[in-house]
Amino acid sequence: MDLLGLTIKDVSKKLKSHVFSCRELVEECFSNIKKNDKKINAFLTLNEKEALKKAGEYDELIKNDKEIFDKKPLLGIPTVLKDLYTAKGIRTTAGSKIIEDYYPPFDSTVVKKLMDAGVIVIGKTNEDAWGHGSSGENTDYEPTKNPYDLSRVPGGSSSGSGAAVAYGAALVGTGTDTGSSVRLPAGYCNLVGLKPTYGRVSRYGVIAMASSFDSIGHMTKTVYDNAKVLEVTAGLDPYDSTTFPIKVGQYTKVLGQNIKGLKIGLPKEYFVKGLDNKVNNSIRNSLKVMEKLGATVKEISLPHTDYAMAAYYILVPSEVSSNLSRYDGVRYGGTREIFGAEAKRRIMLGSYTLSSGYYDAYYLKAAKVRTLIKQDFEKAFKEIDILIVPTSPTLPFKLGEKVDDPLKMYLSDIFLCPVNLAGIAGLSVPSGFVDGLPVGMQIIGPQFSEELLYKVAYLFEQETQYYKIHPEFTNG
Ligand code: GLN
Repeated sequence: MDLLGLTIKDVSKKLKSHVFSCRELVEECFSNIKKNDKKINAFLTLNEKEALKKAGEYDELIKNDKEIFDKKPLLGIPTVLKDLYTAKGIRTTAGSKIIEDYYPPFDSTVVKKLMDAGVIVIGKTNEDAWGHGSSGENTDYEPTKNPYDLSRVPGGSSSGSGAAVAYGAALVGTGTDTGSSVRLPAGYCNLVGLKPTYGRVSRYGVIAMASSFDSIGHMTKTVYDNAKVLEVTAGLDPYDSTTFPIKVGQYTKVLGQNIKGLKIGLPKEYFVKGLDNKVNNSIRNSLKVMEKLGATVKEISLPHTDYAMAAYYILVPSEVSSNLSRYDGVRYGGTREIFGAEAKRRIMLGSYTLSSGYYDAYYLKAAKVRTLIKQDFEKAFKEIDILIVPTSPTLPFKLGEKVDDPLKMYLSDIFLCPVNLAGIAGLSVPSGFVDGLPVGMQIIGPQFSEELLYKVAYLFEQETQYYKIHPEFTNG
């Protein structure tokens, strides 16, 4: 079985018609992992025994219950969980040595929903510790590599989830996106990655990074697959008071509808110096595809863009310093190690910006800038329906290239963080290849515009089919 060539849609069909069993599917995932993960380092923990047991149970259900796929829409789908996702009885480290031996006594809401829908958890994936980073290199373990070029980063912080789906270890990779962490690995690994509207998906049980930014999203190979997963994960949760009582969209139902007359905005502040020429050209070609599909493109302005990164790196460390204070060695068991450099940097910065003498000058000011950035988007969405920008200003960079320069690292997210500041939705879709490396295109929409984003991305994907290009190393 060629797992790389399969999507959720294909797998469901094949399980239903007994082309292969759930057990064979799961065995295939672990065989790929055994063959390739030494090179990639996507996993921190494998869940092999449990996964095979579940697969056996599901094979019985498939035999005996004709309606099982209606009751469990993701039945048998191999899924990997970023290690910030609390999962009962499965080691959950947040990519950090601080809670190296933490076995949670409960499931996060998303994990519960996914498991109720029938997914099979293959393992927990590597990440920048606590979600701090853009390359995966801030993990307290060995960094993950990009399956399209082993000398390059897969994007972070949900690095393992992205790489795992890209090399055929699973079909769904869950992530968290506080400033970039689903969309960037999606862009760098040729995947579809969603940062949903803040509050669309419950954060309950997902280890908090910056609570007013954290968005719970996922990566898949195709738009249909991504939409299918959101239908399961989205919705109101009594355990997370920031989730909304707005009906979950019909994300898979809208796919295929035309986008004639769609108004696309290009924020002029994003197409500037620092944007790699080749990436720019690739996105311009993608815009031509959009025009062919009936959309119109016009330049717009998001005037406060220049202040986004500064505001982000005041507000996020402030919230980080508060959220990390619970790892005091008492509540979560043995804190035998100390925090890594990036976590320390953020704890110090955040404690400073929240301290009584500096709160007004930094935290409060940044909070005001955040409102201005949100208003920029609101104004833009009065004129246009969606924005299109590159997911990253550069191609996937070399491992080690930015580790000694945190500011340079922070700038890889420059097109992504503003979306989190505004709490709106962004979807990264494969937009082609340059020098053998994937390029991502980000489609940004207003709050709760996920249906629209999927609709647009789906037509683009059908036209371009970049998801069919897989990393070559797995063939050898
Ligand atoms: N790279 C960004 C940061 O380090 C975003 C990380 C994230 O989305 N978790 O803050």
